[in-house]
Amino acid sequence: MKSIAVLLATCCLFAITACAQQKQQKQVVSLEELPMVIKDAQDYNPLEPMEAQVILRKGTERAFTGAYFDYKGEGVYICKQCNLPLFSSKDKFNSGTGWPSFDDIIKDNVKEIPDADGMRTEIVCANCGGHLGHVFRGEGFTKKQTRHCANSASLTFVEAEGEGN
Ligand SMILES: [Zn+2]
Repeated sequence: MKSIAVLLATCCLFAITACAQQKQQKQVVSLEELPMVIKDAQDYNPLEPMEAQVILRKGTERAFTGAYFDYKGEGVYICKQCNLPLFSSKDKFNSGTGWPSFDDIIKDNVKEIPDADGMRTEIVCANCGGHLGHVFRGEGFTKKQTRHCANSASLTFVEAEGEGN
């Protein structure tokens, strides 16, 4: 049995590597490896008070205090509440603002909603609607001219091979 397990692991690794090359290092992590996305609200991951303040009541954590503003691990940032993959470390850049900043999203998984006052555009998880932060454009940080400014409290980092820059 052990040899089968090793063989399976090897195959799996090969498949991941092949996939990485094929997709030119874009979203190379197979979704089966990430925690299952939770669809039913009553099953959402429990939140700490600070996380609930940000995710449910659209709060903002203080700059330079979150777990990920300066984090450089290779992997995927998933929704703290429902596990939906939101951002890749490939798209993370140092904006110097004190919040995790990404110039792209994992396709379709981050929704934009204009703030009531029309000043800013909120970003939320496309599955659970949890507040992530705001998106800003035209600032010149990267070629994509886009900064998804997220709260670390809204995210859980999952290490994954091939997601680095
Ligand atoms: Zn979510």
